[in-house]
Amino acid sequence: MTSCAAPANVISTLAVDVRAALEDDDESLCVLRHHRELPSTAAPLVHQVGQRILIILRALRQSQHYRLVFFHAREDSTFRAMDTTPAFPSLLVVRHPLIQHKLTILRDRSTPTKIFKELVDEIAMLMAYEATSELSLEETSVETPLERGTGWRVSGKKLTLVPILRAGLGMVEGVLRLVPGARVGHIGLYRDHDTLEPVDYYFKIPGDVSEREFLILDPMLATGGSAAAAVTSLKRAGASRIRFLCIVAAPEGVRRLAATHPDVMIYCASLDRELNAQGYILPGLGDAGDRLFGTR
Ligand code: URA
Repeated sequence: MTSCAAPANVISTLAVDVRAALEDDDESLCVLRHHRELPSTAAPLVHQVGQRILIILRALRQSQHYRLVFFHAREDSTFRAMDTTPAFPSLLVVRHPLIQHKLTILRDRSTPTKIFKELVDEIAMLMAYEATSELSLEETSVETPLERGTGWRVSGKKLTLVPILRAGLGMVEGVLRLVPGARVGHIGLYRDHDTLEPVDYYFKIPGDVSEREFLILDPMLATGGSAAAAVTSLKRAGASRIRFLCIVAAPEGVRRLAATHPDVMIYCASLDRELNAQGYILPGLGDAGDRLFGTR
């Protein structure tokens, strides 16, 4: 199936035809953005992930071209239709051209450590722009040189970055450049080379956990074992609003993290093909920690 955005008239037709569409045998599958009330028959097909609502339904009379239509719930989302996939409703692939360009250099085996580090930093910053697109705002007033005006400032929960040691450290400065007031916790997990399961050796986060939003950082979402364990540790400490920011994800890792923690939105720059027998992502970029810190 292909993914594409439908024009406005198709969206409104679909919105009106939800009930009929659900009873139709058409094979077309649609994920439709909908902001108003829903027919009750559609309720089981509504998936709430964070602040987003995805509505999955069978579409009536859709041409082959609109077989798969996919939308976010939020009207003001910066994501486009193709940034998500119905197979992984909690995954957002950030396809900004600058990120994709930098990612390709990052993958290149001949990219030296210094450039690799700078690119991880820049990609993390650009991705953080998207991963913070749903932070809530409150109205404020501002005194300009000419008059008093109205402005906005980020409100609500305070943001905490939690890099998974050690490769996650490479993403911290980039995100902090956008959100300088964020605190930084740390989770130390390493992957046992035999079992590929995470082993927890360090956990330190700010005290006021329930008042905070957490952004876990790790360039690679491979098996999903470390990611799921990091989220579990944060939840055990009292965290409830958690997002996961990586650069390259493997389907196996997304599947595991989404199955264990479906409430956690995952942001990546690429959903790669698969893991190899050693747990490395293909095509991937190699060992992110080694390439960041020159320990190859
Ligand atoms: N960790 C890495 O650094 N690279 C991979 O491909 C998988 C896990």
